[in-house]
Amino acid sequence: MLHKFAAIVLCVFGVCAMSHAAAPVLVIHGGAGVIKKEMDPATQKAVRAALATALERGYAQLKAGKPALDAVTAAITVLEDDPHFNAGKGAVFNHDGKNELDASIMDGDTLRAGGVANVHRVKNPILLARAVMEHSPHVLMFGDGAEEFAKTQGIVLVDPKYFWTEKRWQELQDALKKDAAGQHADAEKEGHFGTVGAVALDKAGHLAAGTSTGGMTDKRFGRVGDSPIIGAGTYANAGCAVSGTGWGEYYLRTVAAHEICMRVTQMHQPLKEAAEYVINKEIPKLGGDGGAIVLGADGEFATPFNTDGMYRGWVDKDGKIHVAIFPGE
Ligand code: ASP
Repeated sequence: MLHKFAAIVLCVFGVCAMSHAAAPVLVIHGGAGVIKKEMDPATQKAVRAALATALERGYAQLKAGKPALDAVTAAITVLEDDPHFNAGKGAVFNHDGKNELDASIMDGDTLRAGGVANVHRVKNPILLARAVMEHSPHVLMFGDGAEEFAKTQGIVLVDPKYFWTEKRWQELQDALKKDAAGQHADAEKEGHFGTVGAVALDKAGHLAAGTSTGGMTDKRFGRVGDSPIIGAGTYANAGCAVSGTGWGEYYLRTVAAHEICMRVTQMHQPLKEAAEYVINKEIPKLGGDGGAIVLGADGEFATPFNTDGMYRGWVDKDGKIHVAIFPGE
């Protein structure tokens, strides 16, 4: 998975300079917390197809020489529009039977970032997070205020009923039953599933990361997880990009995405080791679980997780689409 830079000699009016064009790389996830027994063949097929489409759309941006940010938003919007993932259309329900969506994005080249939390009517929260980053002086906007801002940006708003799906509704009913039986901790542990994210390296050698989620089934009291929080669920700098998925409280407590990137860029820990340490040691040690996708400026990447599976996929420097769900794929 190690990546090479191609040297290109550019000559303008007889003056030549060497430029290093990076072979683009895109890595995505559609959430950890895959439960093996729930993965019937039809669901697996649909999930794999959606991951492949997201990779195709995102990678087309990179191949066309567009910035990593464009690949991240293109891939994530595909997954937000697909009901199989806990983001956009397929967002889970909170305790009150409502959908509250969170998202964030970060540009590794400039360290600009944007996030939105607790929005109810935004069809593609990742596009609003990007608008916060690019067209406001702020980094994080919440709820109704974020939706007011969305109107000024021409971001598509939908009736909250758009997010209603039978499957997610049933998951909430199951969680409520567990709550009533005093098994809240079990319900909480099973409640994170299908958050989406992407990390990309463009031809200019710049990285970006983004994450979008409906949060956790049965969440209460305006709970906000890690996904819209820069440093917890999403982080990118010049040498590292991360999007996480899992039990958000633990990603917040370990500042997981930032911690991985600091290990890579400041401590010069090998990328795979850094990712393994935070996701598979630090978070489980506290009682959490989940996974992440991590990409370095040299194109090396890692997809650690400690759940039954993690929906994921990548287009490496070979330009081929790979999708996977279970360990070892
Ligand atoms: N991390 C998300 C949250 O806690 C859930 C997920 O990744 O599925 O809100």
